[in-house]
Amino acid sequence: MIKKLLFLTMFIFAAISTYADEQFKVKLDNDNHSKETIELPYCNIFLAMSEAAEDGNVHVSVEMENLDESNVLILFDRAYIEKVLKKMRPSITYDKIFGGTKGRRTIESCKGLKNVLLVPASEKYKVLDLPGKDGEVLVCRIPIYIAKYKGKSMKKLLLLEKQVIELNIEVELKPDEVYLNLNGAYDDLVKELADTVFCTNKRHRPSLEKQKEPYIAQIDSLKKEIDEVIARHNWMSTDKGYKLYDELKCKLDSINLDEREGDCGKHTYSHRCKYCSLSLQQIYHKLDDYYQKIYSSSDRKAAKSQVMNDVNLLYRCCTDATCKRHAREWRKGGEYKSKIIDRYNRIKQF
Ligand SMILES: [Zn+2]
Ligand SMILES: [Zn+2]
Ligand SMILES: [Zn+2]
Repeated sequence: MIKKLLFLTMFIFAAISTYADEQFKVKLDNDNHSKETIELPYCNIFLAMSEAAEDGNVHVSVEMENLDESNVLILFDRAYIEKVLKKMRPSITYDKIFGGTKGRRTIESCKGLKNVLLVPASEKYKVLDLPGKDGEVLVCRIPIYIAKYKGKSMKKLLLLEKQVIELNIEVELKPDEVYLNLNGAYDDLVKELADTVFCTNKRHRPSLEKQKEPYIAQIDSLKKEIDEVIARHNWMSTDKGYKLYDELKCKLDSINLDEREGDCGKHTYSHRCKYCSLSLQQIYHKLDDYYQKIYSSSDRKAAKSQVMNDVNLLYRCCTDATCKRHAREWRKGGEYKSKIIDRYNRIKQF
Protein backbone atom coordinates (compact mmCIF):
# COMPACT_ATOMS: atom_id res chain seq x y z
CA MET A 1 0.00 0.00 0.00
CA ILE A 2 2.78 2.41 0.93
CA LYS A 3 4.63 1.42 -2.20
CA LYS A 4 1.57 2.08 -4.28
CA LEU A 5 1.09 5.47 -2.67
CA LEU A 6 4.71 6.38 -3.17
CA PHE A 7 4.46 5.45 -6.80
CA LEU A 8 1.36 7.55 -7.19
CA THR A 9 3.01 10.54 -5.54
CA MET A 10 6.00 10.18 -7.79
CA PHE A 11 3.76 9.96 -10.78
CA ILE A 12 1.90 13.10 -9.85
CA PHE A 13 5.13 14.91 -9.13
CA ALA A 14 6.51 13.90 -12.51
CA ALA A 15 3.34 14.99 -14.21
CA ILE A 16 3.40 18.36 -12.48
CA SER A 17 7.03 19.06 -13.14
CA THR A 18 7.06 18.17 -16.80
CA TYR A 19 3.77 19.58 -17.89
CA ALA A 20 3.64 23.10 -19.21
CA ASP A 21 1.01 24.84 -21.29
CA GLU A 22 3.61 26.63 -23.30
CA GLN A 23 7.35 26.36 -23.63
CA PHE A 24 9.67 29.02 -24.92
CA LYS A 25 13.30 28.76 -25.86
CA VAL A 26 15.14 32.04 -25.59
CA LYS A 27 18.77 32.96 -26.23
CA LEU A 28 20.18 36.02 -24.55
CA ASP A 29 23.63 37.50 -24.88
CA ASN A 30 25.42 40.66 -23.78
CA ASP A 31 26.02 41.80 -27.32
CA ASN A 32 22.93 42.59 -29.37
CA HIS A 33 20.35 40.42 -27.76
CA SER A 34 20.07 41.13 -24.06
CA LYS A 35 16.28 41.44 -24.10
CA GLU A 36 13.37 39.37 -25.26
CA THR A 37 9.62 39.71 -24.98
CA ILE A 38 7.28 36.78 -24.88
CA GLU A 39 3.80 37.69 -25.96
CA LEU A 40 0.90 35.71 -24.59
CA PRO A 41 -2.80 36.47 -25.02
CA TYR A 42 -3.20 37.56 -21.43
CA CYS A 43 0.25 38.89 -20.57
CA ASN A 44 3.65 39.92 -21.83
CA ILE A 45 6.77 38.51 -20.26
CA PHE A 46 9.86 40.66 -20.51
CA LEU A 47 13.27 39.06 -20.13
CA ALA A 48 16.40 41.14 -19.72
CA MET A 49 19.93 39.98 -19.10
CA SER A 50 21.97 42.14 -16.78
CA GLU A 51 25.46 43.42 -17.54
CA ALA A 52 28.00 40.68 -17.07
CA ALA A 53 29.65 40.68 -13.71
CA GLU A 54 33.43 40.29 -13.46
CA ASP A 55 33.05 36.67 -12.36
CA GLY A 56 31.02 35.72 -15.43
CA ASN A 57 27.73 35.52 -13.55
CA VAL A 58 24.65 37.02 -15.10
CA HIS A 59 21.14 37.86 -14.01
CA VAL A 60 18.00 37.59 -16.04
CA SER A 61 15.12 39.68 -14.80
CA VAL A 62 11.60 38.51 -15.54
CA GLU A 63 8.83 41.10 -15.68
CA MET A 64 5.22 40.44 -16.28
CA GLU A 65 2.68 42.81 -17.78
CA ASN A 66 -0.96 41.98 -17.25
CA LEU A 67 -2.73 42.79 -20.51
CA ASP A 68 -6.23 42.19 -19.20
CA GLU A 69 -8.30 45.11 -18.02
CA SER A 70 -10.14 43.27 -15.27
CA ASN A 71 -8.36 40.02 -14.37
CA VAL A 72 -5.52 39.69 -11.88
CA LEU A 73 -2.49 37.46 -12.42
CA ILE A 74 -1.22 35.68 -9.34
CA LEU A 75 2.07 33.90 -8.73
CA PHE A 76 2.47 31.93 -5.52
CA ASP A 77 5.63 31.49 -3.50
CA ARG A 78 4.46 28.26 -1.87
CA ALA A 79 2.18 25.26 -2.46
CA TYR A 80 -0.77 26.64 -0.52
CA ILE A 81 -3.76 24.48 0.27
CA GLU A 82 -7.29 25.77 -0.12
CA LYS A 83 -7.82 26.45 3.60
CA VAL A 84 -4.83 28.74 3.76
CA LEU A 85 -5.75 30.50 0.52
CA LYS A 86 -9.12 31.35 1.90
CA LYS A 87 -7.58 33.11 4.91
CA MET A 88 -5.36 35.33 2.79
CA ARG A 89 -6.14 38.97 2.19
CA PRO A 90 -7.72 39.22 -0.25
CA SER A 91 -9.28 35.82 0.33
CA ILE A 92 -8.59 33.44 -2.53
CA THR A 93 -10.89 30.63 -3.61
CA TYR A 94 -11.21 28.47 -6.69
CA ASP A 95 -13.93 29.31 -9.14
CA LYS A 96 -16.51 26.66 -10.00
CA ILE A 97 -14.99 26.18 -13.43
CA PHE A 98 -11.51 25.43 -12.02
CA GLY A 99 -10.64 21.71 -12.28
CA GLY A 100 -9.75 19.29 -9.48
CA THR A 101 -11.47 18.02 -6.34
CA LYS A 102 -12.90 20.75 -4.19
CA GLY A 103 -11.09 21.20 -0.88
CA ARG A 104 -8.06 19.12 -1.93
CA ARG A 105 -6.43 21.29 -4.50
CA THR A 106 -2.93 22.59 -3.97
CA ILE A 107 -1.37 25.62 -5.54
CA GLU A 108 1.70 25.13 -7.73
CA SER A 109 4.36 27.49 -6.51
CA CYS A 110 6.72 29.55 -8.57
CA LYS A 111 10.30 28.85 -7.62
CA GLY A 112 12.30 31.90 -6.65
CA LEU A 113 9.40 33.99 -5.35
CA LYS A 114 9.50 35.30 -1.81
CA ASN A 115 5.86 36.37 -1.52
CA VAL A 116 2.57 35.88 -3.20
CA LEU A 117 2.59 38.27 -6.11
CA LEU A 118 -0.47 39.91 -7.57
CA VAL A 119 -0.11 41.64 -10.90
CA PRO A 120 -3.17 43.90 -11.17
CA ALA A 121 -5.00 44.55 -14.42
CA SER A 122 -2.94 46.54 -16.95
CA GLU A 123 0.10 46.66 -14.66
CA LYS A 124 3.72 45.59 -15.18
CA TYR A 125 5.63 44.05 -12.28
CA LYS A 126 9.03 42.52 -11.83
CA VAL A 127 8.45 38.93 -10.77
CA LEU A 128 11.79 37.14 -10.76
CA ASP A 129 15.51 37.62 -10.92
CA LEU A 130 17.23 34.50 -12.20
CA PRO A 131 20.90 34.01 -11.44
CA GLY A 132 22.87 32.22 -14.14
CA LYS A 133 26.24 31.60 -15.63
CA ASP A 134 27.62 32.08 -19.08
CA GLY A 135 26.76 29.11 -21.28
CA GLU A 136 24.02 27.83 -18.99
CA VAL A 137 20.41 27.19 -19.83
CA LEU A 138 18.11 28.54 -17.14
CA VAL A 139 14.89 26.63 -16.86
CA CYS A 140 12.17 28.77 -15.36
CA ARG A 141 8.73 27.42 -14.74
CA ILE A 142 6.06 30.02 -14.06
CA PRO A 143 2.60 28.83 -12.99
CA ILE A 144 0.35 31.82 -13.61
CA TYR A 145 -3.04 31.88 -11.94
CA ILE A 146 -5.61 34.02 -13.68
CA ALA A 147 -8.12 35.40 -11.17
CA LYS A 148 -10.85 37.99 -10.90
CA TYR A 149 -12.35 39.91 -8.04
CA LYS A 150 -15.70 38.77 -6.77
CA GLY A 151 -17.88 41.78 -6.28
CA LYS A 152 -16.65 45.34 -6.08
CA SER A 153 -15.13 45.29 -2.59
CA MET A 154 -11.90 43.66 -3.89
CA LYS A 155 -11.79 41.47 -0.81
CA LYS A 156 -12.29 38.15 -2.57
CA LEU A 157 -10.43 36.67 -5.51
CA LEU A 158 -11.60 33.77 -7.62
CA LEU A 159 -9.04 31.58 -9.37
CA LEU A 160 -10.25 30.99 -12.92
CA GLU A 161 -7.45 29.01 -14.46
CA LYS A 162 -3.78 28.13 -14.30
CA GLN A 163 -1.35 28.60 -17.17
CA VAL A 164 2.10 27.14 -16.84
CA ILE A 165 4.81 28.82 -18.83
CA GLU A 166 8.20 27.20 -19.13
CA LEU A 167 11.13 29.29 -20.21
CA ASN A 168 14.43 27.82 -21.36
CA ILE A 169 16.79 30.73 -21.32
CA GLU A 170 20.24 30.21 -22.72
CA VAL A 171 22.65 32.90 -21.64
CA GLU A 172 25.84 33.63 -23.46
CA LEU A 173 28.59 36.13 -22.77
CA LYS A 174 30.24 37.28 -25.94
CA PRO A 175 34.00 37.85 -25.73
CA ASP A 176 34.75 41.23 -24.25
CA GLU A 177 36.68 44.04 -25.88
CA VAL A 178 39.91 43.17 -24.07
CA TYR A 179 39.83 39.71 -25.63
CA LEU A 180 38.94 41.01 -29.06
CA ASN A 181 41.88 43.43 -28.93
CA LEU A 182 44.31 40.73 -27.84
CA ASN A 183 43.04 38.34 -30.46
CA GLY A 184 43.32 41.09 -33.09
CA ALA A 185 46.92 41.69 -32.06
CA TYR A 186 47.60 37.96 -32.47
CA ASP A 187 46.04 37.94 -35.94
CA ASP A 188 48.12 40.95 -36.98
CA LEU A 189 51.27 39.31 -35.68
CA VAL A 190 50.61 36.11 -37.63
CA LYS A 191 49.87 38.11 -40.77
CA GLU A 192 53.05 40.13 -40.40
CA LEU A 193 55.14 37.01 -39.81
CA ALA A 194 53.81 35.44 -43.00
CA ASP A 195 55.64 38.20 -44.93
CA THR A 196 58.76 38.14 -42.79
CA VAL A 197 62.02 36.28 -43.36
CA PHE A 198 64.57 36.15 -40.58
CA CYS A 199 67.78 36.24 -42.57
CA THR A 200 70.29 33.63 -41.45
CA ASN A 201 73.03 34.97 -43.70
CA LYS A 202 76.10 35.76 -41.62
CA ARG A 203 76.54 39.05 -43.43
CA HIS A 204 73.01 40.23 -42.61
CA ARG A 205 72.64 43.19 -40.28
CA PRO A 206 71.02 43.18 -37.77
CA SER A 207 71.88 39.70 -36.60
CA LEU A 208 69.38 36.84 -36.66
CA GLU A 209 68.85 37.20 -32.92
CA LYS A 210 68.20 40.94 -33.19
CA GLN A 211 65.75 40.41 -36.05
CA LYS A 212 63.63 38.09 -33.91
CA GLU A 213 63.82 40.20 -30.75
CA PRO A 214 60.83 42.52 -31.37
CA TYR A 215 58.58 39.55 -32.20
CA ILE A 216 59.61 37.62 -29.11
CA ALA A 217 58.97 40.76 -27.06
CA GLN A 218 55.52 41.20 -28.58
CA ILE A 219 54.54 37.57 -27.97
CA ASP A 220 55.76 37.84 -24.38
CA SER A 221 53.86 41.04 -23.75
CA LEU A 222 50.60 39.59 -25.15
CA LYS A 223 51.03 36.50 -22.95
CA LYS A 224 51.67 38.71 -19.95
CA GLU A 225 48.48 40.66 -20.66
CA ILE A 226 46.53 37.38 -20.87
CA ASP A 227 47.92 36.26 -17.51
CA GLU A 228 46.89 39.57 -16.00
CA VAL A 229 43.32 39.24 -17.31
CA ILE A 230 43.05 35.70 -15.94
CA ALA A 231 44.43 36.78 -12.56
CA ARG A 232 42.13 39.80 -12.42
CA HIS A 233 39.04 37.63 -12.93
CA ASN A 234 40.22 34.99 -10.52
CA TRP A 235 39.18 32.38 -13.06
CA MET A 236 39.49 28.67 -12.41
CA SER A 237 40.82 26.53 -15.23
CA THR A 238 37.29 25.21 -15.79
CA ASP A 239 35.78 28.66 -16.35
CA LYS A 240 34.83 29.61 -19.88
CA GLY A 241 36.77 32.87 -19.67
CA TYR A 242 39.92 31.05 -18.60
CA LYS A 243 39.59 28.58 -21.46
CA LEU A 244 39.08 31.35 -23.99
CA TYR A 245 42.15 33.31 -22.92
CA ASP A 246 44.24 30.20 -22.36
CA GLU A 247 43.49 29.06 -25.89
CA LEU A 248 44.82 32.37 -27.18
CA LYS A 249 47.92 31.94 -25.06
CA CYS A 250 48.49 28.47 -26.55
CA LYS A 251 48.16 29.95 -30.03
CA LEU A 252 50.83 32.51 -29.16
CA ASP A 253 53.04 29.76 -27.77
CA SER A 254 52.75 27.79 -30.97
CA ILE A 255 54.11 30.62 -33.11
CA ASN A 256 57.40 29.24 -34.40
CA LEU A 257 59.77 32.00 -35.43
CA ASP A 258 62.35 29.46 -36.63
CA GLU A 259 59.95 28.51 -39.40
CA ARG A 260 60.42 31.97 -40.84
CA GLU A 261 64.20 31.65 -41.12
CA GLY A 262 65.79 31.89 -44.54
CA ASP A 263 67.90 34.13 -46.74
CA CYS A 264 66.63 37.58 -47.57
CA GLY A 265 68.26 37.25 -50.99
CA LYS A 266 70.16 40.52 -50.70
CA HIS A 267 73.56 38.99 -50.10
CA THR A 268 74.33 37.47 -53.53
CA TYR A 269 78.08 37.46 -53.98
CA SER A 270 79.63 39.36 -56.82
CA HIS A 271 83.31 39.70 -57.54
CA ARG A 272 85.04 43.01 -56.92
CA CYS A 273 88.70 43.89 -57.06
CA LYS A 274 91.10 46.67 -58.00
CA TYR A 275 91.40 45.39 -61.55
CA CYS A 276 87.71 45.37 -62.38
CA SER A 277 88.08 48.71 -64.12
CA LEU A 278 90.59 47.33 -66.61
CA SER A 279 89.66 45.89 -69.99
CA LEU A 280 90.71 42.34 -70.89
CA GLN A 281 93.28 43.88 -73.19
CA GLN A 282 94.77 45.92 -70.37
CA ILE A 283 94.82 42.86 -68.14
CA TYR A 284 96.59 40.94 -70.86
CA HIS A 285 99.24 43.64 -71.11
CA LYS A 286 99.80 43.61 -67.38
CA LEU A 287 100.23 39.84 -67.40
CA ASP A 288 102.54 40.10 -70.38
CA ASP A 289 104.61 42.72 -68.56
CA TYR A 290 105.00 40.33 -65.61
CA TYR A 291 105.87 37.52 -67.99
CA GLN A 292 108.61 39.54 -69.66
CA LYS A 293 109.93 40.69 -66.29
CA ILE A 294 110.24 37.13 -64.96
CA TYR A 295 111.58 35.85 -68.25
CA SER A 296 114.41 38.34 -68.30
CA SER A 297 115.15 38.02 -64.59
CA SER A 298 118.30 36.27 -63.35
CA ASP A 299 116.33 34.60 -60.59
CA ARG A 300 113.04 33.62 -62.17
CA LYS A 301 111.71 31.84 -59.09
CA ALA A 302 112.24 34.92 -56.95
CA ALA A 303 110.78 37.24 -59.57
CA LYS A 304 107.78 34.97 -59.97
CA SER A 305 107.03 34.80 -56.26
CA GLN A 306 107.18 38.60 -56.08
CA VAL A 307 104.39 39.06 -58.60
CA MET A 308 102.38 35.84 -58.26
CA ASN A 309 99.79 37.39 -55.92
CA ASP A 310 99.06 40.09 -58.42
CA VAL A 311 99.00 37.61 -61.28
CA ASN A 312 96.40 35.53 -59.51
CA LEU A 313 94.30 38.62 -58.78
CA LEU A 314 94.37 39.64 -62.45
CA TYR A 315 93.52 36.15 -63.60
CA ARG A 316 90.64 35.76 -61.12
CA CYS A 317 89.15 39.06 -62.25
CA CYS A 318 88.84 37.63 -65.76
CA THR A 319 87.63 34.19 -64.82
CA ASP A 320 85.28 34.86 -61.91
CA ALA A 321 81.78 34.21 -63.24
CA THR A 322 80.34 36.93 -60.97
CA CYS A 323 82.64 39.69 -62.25
CA LYS A 324 80.31 42.30 -63.63
CA ARG A 325 82.98 43.82 -65.89
CA HIS A 326 84.46 40.71 -67.52
CA ALA A 327 82.27 37.62 -67.06
CA ARG A 328 80.19 38.14 -70.19
CA GLU A 329 83.14 38.93 -72.42
CA TRP A 330 85.06 35.99 -70.98
CA ARG A 331 82.19 33.59 -71.72
CA LYS A 332 82.12 34.77 -75.33
CA GLY A 333 85.83 33.99 -75.69
CA GLY A 334 87.90 36.04 -78.14
CA GLU A 335 91.45 37.07 -78.82
CA TYR A 336 92.41 38.33 -75.37
CA LYS A 337 90.88 35.40 -73.51
CA SER A 338 93.25 32.93 -75.15
CA LYS A 339 96.15 35.36 -74.81
CA ILE A 340 95.51 35.81 -71.10
CA ILE A 341 95.24 32.05 -70.55
CA ASP A 342 98.48 31.54 -72.42
CA ARG A 343 100.40 34.18 -70.41
CA TYR A 344 98.97 32.92 -67.13
CA ASN A 345 100.00 29.33 -67.82
CA ARG A 346 103.48 30.37 -68.89
CA ILE A 347 104.01 32.42 -65.72
CA LYS A 348 102.84 29.50 -63.59
CA GLN A 349 105.35 27.21 -65.25
CA PHE A 350 108.42 29.28 -64.35
ZN1 LIG B 1 69.95 38.98 -45.40
ZN1 LIG C 1 88.09 42.33 -60.55
ZN1 LIG D 1 86.97 41.20 -63.73
